[in-house]
Amino acid sequence: MNKIPVYEPYLDHNEKNLVVDCMETTWISSKGVYINKFEDLVKNYTKANYCSATSNGTNALHLALLALDIKKGDEVITTNFTYVATTNAILYVGAKPVFCEINKTDLNIDVSRLEKKITSKTKAILYTNVYGFLCNYDKLKKIASKYGLYLIEDAAESFGASYKNKMSGTLGDISTFSFFGNKTITTGEGGMVLCNNKKHYDKIAQFKNQGNSEKPFFHDVLGYNYRMTNIQAAIGCAQLNKIDEIITLKAEIYYKYQQLLMGKVKFLEKLEYTKPSFWITPVVFKTKRQKEKVVKKLLDNNIETRPFFTPIDNLSFYRKSNCNIANEVFELGLLLPSYPGLSEKNQNKICRLITTTL
Ligand SMILES: *Cc1c(COP(=O)(O)O)cnc(C)c1O
Repeated sequence: MNKIPVYEPYLDHNEKNLVVDCMETTWISSKGVYINKFEDLVKNYTKANYCSATSNGTNALHLALLALDIKKGDEVITTNFTYVATTNAILYVGAKPVFCEINKTDLNIDVSRLEKKITSKTKAILYTNVYGFLCNYDKLKKIASKYGLYLIEDAAESFGASYKNKMSGTLGDISTFSFFGNKTITTGEGGMVLCNNKKHYDKIAQFKNQGNSEKPFFHDVLGYNYRMTNIQAAIGCAQLNKIDEIITLKAEIYYKYQQLLMGKVKFLEKLEYTKPSFWITPVVFKTKRQKEKVVKKLLDNNIETRPFFTPIDNLSFYRKSNCNIANEVFELGLLLPSYPGLSEKNQNKICRLITTTL
């Protein structure tokens, strides 16, 4: 029985050819033509002014906070329902994550409860477009402007999504992408920081490159090596070439799940004026027992699923919060196989197994 994974990158000979080109030209480290090319392609796709490729999405977030000079003593408002990398970046710079409650409808930050979290120490709002569903950018922007806060978008899961025709990756002062193997487009490991401000961009470039200044081997700040390699960027170029195809395939998969599982499980609700990235299909069961039965049934049939995020404040190195929606949905939520190459036959099988188990 073939295994159906929860995700699988959408690769073909183009990725391979460009990687071979890196080998043959010997440009395998963080210099070479594909890095600028990949940054330019993403710039063109998102319409961001500046793009800086990084070695992964976690250090893209770290660089975003460094560029905004967020540090010890500062507070950053975020949620407890995101990937741990989001909030870890806040800890890396010594700042304090302050959790705001999420919505039940889309599992994103509840903007109506955000203002109460702001103190004199608040410097930024760091929000994630969870599972590729976009947050209420207009409201976030309004609150950020009113209180003079930076808005940082963790767009790791929302590559290709748009808010009123504005692309995810430009919905904040600084935005970040991840190009891990299970993300909408991949570079193996990889990430990117996007911004519209030249000063921020220059700082990002410096921090990611050992704090180098103009002079060789002279370092103005404590920097890092967070550079992307030419090989990674080459894969990214090939991936971006078929971004429309990838998103179309994923949207079809998403809507097919919605159609076949209607009434059996709950789906997230997207905001009006937004187009999700359809990164993955999250479903919410009525009871924990139902979910557990389905997980077992699928596993017995060699079909992989993933649970929802463990609420961040349940992790030992975070302080508990009273944001409880994440705990409720964690018990009931499940991510279904949603990769572009998932066949119709296999998707029908998954849905049949789910509906006959419930
Ligand atoms: C994938 C992801 C990241 C970054 O992950 P890397 O594995 O470091 O590329 C950050 N935030 C979210 C929400 C993610 O899903």
